[in-house]
Amino acid sequence: MESANPDQPALEAALRHSVAYLRSLATAPVGATRTLEELRDRLAGPLPPCATDPEQVIDELAAGVEGGLLGSAGGRFFAWVIGGSVPSALAADWLTSAWDQNAALYACSPAEAVIEEVCGAWLKELLGLPPDASFALTTGCQMAHFTCLAAARNAVLSARGWDVERMGLAGAPPIRVLCNSHAHGSALRVLRFLGLGTDCARNLEVNDRGQVEPAALERALASCPDPAIVLLCAGDINMGAFDRFRELIAIARAFGAWVHVDGAFGLWANASPTHRHLLEGVEGADSWATDGHKWLNVPYDSGYAFVAAGSAHRASMSMRASYLTHAEEARDPFDWNPEWSRRGRGVATYAAIRELGRRGVAALVDRCCLHARALVAGMGALEGAEVMWEPVINQGLLRFPDPRPGASQEDHDAHTDRIIAEIVGTGRVFVGGTTWRGRRCMRISVCNWRTTEADVAVAVAAVRDVLAAERG
Ligand SMILES: *Cc1c(COP(=O)(O)O)cnc(C)c1O
Repeated sequence: MESANPDQPALEAALRHSVAYLRSLATAPVGATRTLEELRDRLAGPLPPCATDPEQVIDELAAGVEGGLLGSAGGRFFAWVIGGSVPSALAADWLTSAWDQNAALYACSPAEAVIEEVCGAWLKELLGLPPDASFALTTGCQMAHFTCLAAARNAVLSARGWDVERMGLAGAPPIRVLCNSHAHGSALRVLRFLGLGTDCARNLEVNDRGQVEPAALERALASCPDPAIVLLCAGDINMGAFDRFRELIAIARAFGAWVHVDGAFGLWANASPTHRHLLEGVEGADSWATDGHKWLNVPYDSGYAFVAAGSAHRASMSMRASYLTHAEEARDPFDWNPEWSRRGRGVATYAAIRELGRRGVAALVDRCCLHARALVAGMGALEGAEVMWEPVINQGLLRFPDPRPGASQEDHDAHTDRIIAEIVGTGRVFVGGTTWRGRRCMRISVCNWRTTEADVAVAVAAVRDVLAAERG
């Protein structure tokens, strides 16, 4: 019998599999349990010669990925900075696909254009940014950097009488980019995309808290005749370090430099009265990039770009075409975004902010920071572990020194990596390694709304068991 709605069986199958998957997060191994070969065996195959029933496609897809998904949506995943999805954001993301709107223009999707407008206003208020800043909803923080730094490129060159959008970079005054030396690789990658090249970047010395020294910035700007962009950190990936925005931005201002802030997750500390002091003065920057898919816990892909001087932002992104209908009064996302056709990615953000509210976002940030501190303290107190960095926000570092007498730095590094692999091998918790100040460390990062005290206890117990087994 023909189904009344051809979409329904596949959607219902997706709901069943989704709920089963989310339920399994509490108990299933956090790491993958299938090898590359097994996954290829299950998922590859000849190009399908003919049609398959949609529901069967979904059932087989769910079976095929089994054991090949990480439990990063769950509460015991502390590697990298990866959030989960709050329930309404996940459901809203499904609706986004069902509605299947092209969110490029108001004319293509009036409701989604308005949702993005609302998201922009809510996000600026939550994150403590200037209410008249322009914004864009991008695929992630890297593309938010791209958007912000395109605006920066436009502004610093137009101040030298160069219209980069028309004339390109050949023959343009060279741009110098001065970076916190802990800046994330995504910002440097964007320098390649923007034709600036990584050679234009210079590292600024940081102190032992990962902050650019004001004197170092002043020296670098004083000796730089070129238009300059200064890249500061609101939460670096190892220590969660915050630059001293008020002082540094004042110096950059005096030299006419553009200040861009990478706040992929750290900017969310500004939503918490407990942590806001770390970001004092950040609102004085020229542009800010952050993510929704990390600390706000919306599904991928969700990043946010904000620019104080909306005119430079618009000049670098806006587009007109005779076959399009451009809005007079509404906001066309297309004028602020690098993409043309795009999904209505504001929908999930809108839902998450409504679900959590201002107080819920603050509570989520504070809770994650408490869990990070408890994880690092609990693991650091174990015999065979050493705390390298106590969380200031949600990021901490540990290390597992080689207990053999006379062990070298290399031995400690190798031992740390081996213990990390064993911890991941338990399937009870997922952590990752990093090199910090020349040493291998285990990184703890907490930004999932699902993480509970019970998850923290399981994670500490997993590390305890691995270290105990190691001692024999
Ligand atoms: C994750 C991260 C990025 C990159 O963000 P994407 O959303 O992956 O593009 C940039 N900077 C920092 C500090 C990050 O943690």
